[in-house]
Parts: sequence; structure tokens; C-alpha cells
Amino acid sequence: MQGTILILDGVATNRIILKVQLSAAYYRIVQGTDLVGLRDLVRRTRPDLIVTAMKLPDGTAEDVKKILSEDPPQAAIPILAIGNQRDRMARLKALAAGIDDVLEQPLNDLVFQARIRSLLRLRDGAEDLPAMTGEVLGFAEAPTAYSGPSRVALVTAQAETGTVWRSQLASKTRHSLRTFRLGDIQGLMTQPVPDAIVIEIPRRDPAPALSLMSELFARSSTANCVVIALAEGAEPHSLADALDRGAQDVMAGGFDAEELALRLELDLARKARRDRLRSTVRAGLRAAVLDPMTGLYNRRYALPYLTSALRDTIGTRGDLALMMADLDHFKQINDHYGHAAGDAVLIETAQRLRLMFEPDDMIARVGGEEFLIAIPGVKANDASRIARRICAEINGRPFRIAGAERPVDVTISVGVVTISAGRIGAAGTDEQLATRLIDQADQALYQSKAAGRNRFKTIEAAA
Ligand code: GH3
Ligand code: MG
Ligand code: MG
Repeated sequence: MQGTILILDGVATNRIILKVQLSAAYYRIVQGTDLVGLRDLVRRTRPDLIVTAMKLPDGTAEDVKKILSEDPPQAAIPILAIGNQRDRMARLKALAAGIDDVLEQPLNDLVFQARIRSLLRLRDGAEDLPAMTGEVLGFAEAPTAYSGPSRVALVTAQAETGTVWRSQLASKTRHSLRTFRLGDIQGLMTQPVPDAIVIEIPRRDPAPALSLMSELFARSSTANCVVIALAEGAEPHSLADALDRGAQDVMAGGFDAEELALRLELDLARKARRDRLRSTVRAGLRAAVLDPMTGLYNRRYALPYLTSALRDTIGTRGDLALMMADLDHFKQINDHYGHAAGDAVLIETAQRLRLMFEPDDMIARVGGEEFLIAIPGVKANDASRIARRICAEINGRPFRIAGAERPVDVTISVGVVTISAGRIGAAGTDEQLATRLIDQADQALYQSKAAGRNRFKTIEAAA
């Protein structure tokens, strides 16, 4: 199933025609007639998109937007309004209210379907995340913070057209405008790339404009640009093509300074929201695998990492050293100097460990004062050398602790297990093997503790 679409129209025949059109494209269709009970209907059917008549028996498309806006998870559902005739003022008003687009009857099926695909694609890109990420990652649909003027490129077949567009648009938008000829991909790609690109699709020869769009979306520097296609009198298949190539908007009526200014403002605000969400998700993913106090990886990351590192080691018949390191008598540090001092020792320990290793090695804080270290490509004798160095890094320089009169001596014990893929049996799953090896590193650590601490013991992985 491609997604769920809610059709809102007071006229039964309109609903039936739309339903037939959309069911043929494999969408699940739900229907409503008016604003009464709309919020419950949306909550129950969870549409990915709403196609609504501009006029409903008890209100307008703008009322639909308003009702959904009051309910955060619903506020991001895209809305496509269908008007009965070309009515410029009504269209501008609807766009200003946050309706994603307005199409007029008679609907061209190609353009209609492409517009729906494009709205669903934009939503898949990010807009459906807030409902989930909002709670998990602390992302709230904050009112759009003021953002400075953006860079807008106007791309036309003839230079004169660009000049006319710019002069008409300049008084209506706060964004900075630059004109480009259609063939000037080099200019468009020059840093800093534009935030939005308005592309003319000439009626007679649409191909170069359409391939420019594909080019823009294929390149990482411009893939996130807002693209608006301006197509006066273009064939429906060119309009549909532009949408399918990733244009956020097509203006089938051609250049209209007021409408273009409005669409730029709305599309740039949506892009800012998507960008913000993307970076929130990225930050959230980092937070999910890192220990906030030390910045080392956490336990949740360590096991899957080790599992996949073992798979590589076995696959390449390589070597790997796994170490479990645990601070000695750490409880006494807490008892003597307080918990905050204990934290400071943990942070300093993490820092000293991190400096010893390469970015490819994995260091995780897997318990209060326990660190798991996996070093791919290390053989048994090198592993001993490294373990000895870990002890020396900690016991070699006392720790300076705020509040303590003198620097504090700290020691660490290490359990080492070395894995040589040529000799290790691959019984069980990779994850079971990883868990077994962690247990063996733990046993080696226990031996170090029992032998007097501040030392390391090595076990060769049992088959
Ligand atoms: P051993 O040499 O046998 O490892 O002795 P130990 O005292 O280090 O080990 P034990 O397991 O008895 O105590 C560990 C202590 O670490 C107990 C706990 O209060 C403390 N601890 C665990 N997590 C944290 C933390 O995040 N911050 C601080 N300050 N202390 C912690
Ligand atoms: Mg300890
Ligand atoms: Mg411990």
C-alpha cells in the first residue's frame, strides 16, 4: 500500500471520482464530508495526506488546516485543496494559511498523481518524524525561529526573462535574488549554493530544464535545495515530470510575483523545519550510543560493535584484542573525596584512554567504572604491551581533583582476551561469540584483581 489518503468533499460524486482515480494508484482511501468529527476521523484513520475540496458544507480548506494545526501530530499532514475554478486570490489565501497546494478542476490525472507522490515523498523525508521523535528526542514543533534572507536563484532560458522576474519579485520578497541561464550548471553549483532554485520550464523545449532538476537532486550539495518549477502552458506530462524529479512546487500558470514570493517563503520555512529535524535526529542518534558523562560509547553500542568486528575478524582471518578495564578500589575514592570527585576521575580516565587509541578502536564505558576496549588487528604480544600501557597511563600520573588537597593515586586492572580467527571456532552466532568473549575478558579481569590489582592478565580465547 502506497499510503492512506483522506478525501474530504461534501459532494458524493466528487468523492467517488477521486476515490476511483486514487484507488487505481493503490492508495488506501478514507472519506469524510465535512468538518464535524474531522479530528477524530484523522486520529482514527491516520491519513498520510488529505485531499479536500476548497469549499466544504460547513467551512473551507483553511478550516481543515486550522483544525489539524491544533493537534501537533496532525499538524504535519500535507493538505492538497481542489478548487472549482481558477481563483487567484483564493489560491493565495489558501497557500498563506499553510495548505500545501491548490489544484483546479478539471484535474489533470498525471499532474494530480505526481503532486500527490511529491507531497507524500516530502512527508516521508522528514515530516512524519516529529510525532515520534518529538517525545524521544525532545524535538518540539517550535514556532519557526526568524531566519535571515535566503539565496534564491532564478533560472531561465532567456537572460531577459530572468531580469524581468527579478525586477518584479525584488519588491515582494526579502530574499536575495540572482539570475542564471538554464545551461549554467557550473554557476548554480558554485558555493555557496542557493537555498531555493526557481526554474523556468519552457513550453517548447522542456528537456534541458527537466534534466537540470535531475542533476540538482543527484548532487549532494544541491539535493536539499527547494526547487520551484515555473511552467506557463507546459504540457501536463512536463509538470508531472518536474514533480517526480523532486520539485517541491510547480506553478502551472507561469510567473506570478506575488504567488512565487509566497511559495518561496513557505517552502523555505518547510526546508528549515526539515533541516532542523534532520540535525535533531542525528544528534539523537549520537546520544543514543554515547555515554553522556565521558563521551565514550555506551554498553548499548558495544555489543553490536563487537559482534560486527568479530564477523570481520573471522571473515578476514585476522586478530582482535578485547580488554575489560576496571578502576581499583573506586568506591574508596567516592567515599574519601565525594561522588563528584569520583566523576572527575572517570572523565579523566576516559580522556587518558581515548588518547591512547585510534578512532577505529572502540572504547565503551560499560559499567560504573568499567571500560570495554576492542582493538581490531592486534596479536597477543601487542595486546600485552597495550594492556601494560593502560595500567601505566592511570598509575603513572596522579589525578588532580578539585577539592582534594593532593593529587590522588589511581590504579586500574585489566583483563585481556586475544582472538585469532585462524584458531577460534565459530560455534554459535556472532553475538553469542561476542558475549562469550566479554565473559572471558571479565574472567581475566577477575584474575588481575585477585592477584593484587594494578596489573593485567591475558587469556587466549577458548575455541
Ligand atoms: P574493585 O577494585 O574490586 O573494582 O573495587 P571497586 O571499589 O572499584 O568496586 P566496587 O564494584 O565495589 O565499587 C564500584 C563503585 O563505583 C561503586 C559505585 O558507587 C561507584 N560508581 C559507579 N558508577 C559511578 C559513577 O558514575 N560515578 C561515581 N562517582 N561513582 C560511581
Ligand atoms: Mg572497580
Ligand atoms: Mg566494577
